[in-house]
Amino acid sequence: MKILTSELDSVPATTSSWKESLRRAIRSIDDLCERLALSRQDLDSLRVRDDFPLFVTEEFLSRIEPGNPADPLLRQVLPLAIEDEPTPEAKRDAVGDSVASRSPGLIQKYAGRALLIVSGACGIHCRYCFRRHFPYEQAMVQESYLEEALHSLASDDSISEVILSGGDPLMWVDQPFFRLVDRLAEIPHLETLRIHSRMPIVVPQRTDQAWGRRLMEQRLQVVLVIHANHANELDGSVQERLATLGAEGILLLNQAVLLRGVNDSVSALESLSRRLIACQVMPYYLHQLDQVQGAMHFNVPVSEGRRLIQDLRKRLPGYAVPRYVAEIAGEPHKTLLSE
Ligand SMILES: *Cc1c(COP(=O)(O)O)cnc(C)c1O
Ligand code: SF4
Repeated sequence: MKILTSELDSVPATTSSWKESLRRAIRSIDDLCERLALSRQDLDSLRVRDDFPLFVTEEFLSRIEPGNPADPLLRQVLPLAIEDEPTPEAKRDAVGDSVASRSPGLIQKYAGRALLIVSGACGIHCRYCFRRHFPYEQAMVQESYLEEALHSLASDDSISEVILSGGDPLMWVDQPFFRLVDRLAEIPHLETLRIHSRMPIVVPQRTDQAWGRRLMEQRLQVVLVIHANHANELDGSVQERLATLGAEGILLLNQAVLLRGVNDSVSALESLSRRLIACQVMPYYLHQLDQVQGAMHFNVPVSEGRRLIQDLRKRLPGYAVPRYVAEIAGEPHKTLLSE
């Protein structure tokens, strides 16, 4: 199996397809400014850097308010000079991935669940990303790695759930993706297939009904964990696709990251949860930002995060309050930061 990025170029795309959407994605600050009616002055006041790769789909861009340099979606994708400032508390491998690897690309930290990195690519470049220093080149799934990972999974019957992650596993084209899914379904002790993906947000047409239906044509239970940080990310087109996936029998959860300037207020978090529920998605995790170099300007102190969760509880039904968690290397599960 090959990774998508090489296949992407050889697959003919129609104008409405998700591949075409990735091809048309905005990759320069100038282009972004022009589309969003932002002036260089707006950006100068933010100290935007223009030497860094930016990648935003038109679908995501269409949810950003033109002329607003403080837009919470814009903040997630805009490269800033402050990312270069050294921050002593940040580490490169903040979540301890390099020590928990079972075979290349296969990470097991928690009992019963193993995480398989199937793509180093994403449909968006999030500035706060905790995997920005992950050595993808080494973990990129190639046929040999994948065989080794499948072998490792098959030989350990304590594993009942496989999590496809990345990068974004839905950057893979359907054929090798479903081939992998079918191979996993052949491992008798596996019960659940979990997919962590931001594609339903950044390219909603990626996960259409045919995709959902095909995914359910195998015996594993499927959990799709999407990643939205702000209510504005969940527009009508996203809602429609998610409802379709839900109707196919896929359990839908969301994970968000608590981010300064994006969702660090009780009203932003409340709107996000309400919008998720309206889209039939359960708020699952609110992650404390992993302490990685280059992302610390997004950091919200845990004490403040706890207060936000307490206030959120006063406003929302219990099921709509996400679990506020951090990932602490060496712990047997994610650590709850708020009761
Ligand atoms: C977060 C994570 C999981 C999943 O943990 P859950 O609490 O089950 O959502 C599994 N493996 C790794 C390596 C993880 O980082
Ligand atoms: S989609 Fe996820 S893995 Fe990809 S850049 Fe964004 S946060 Fe990182």
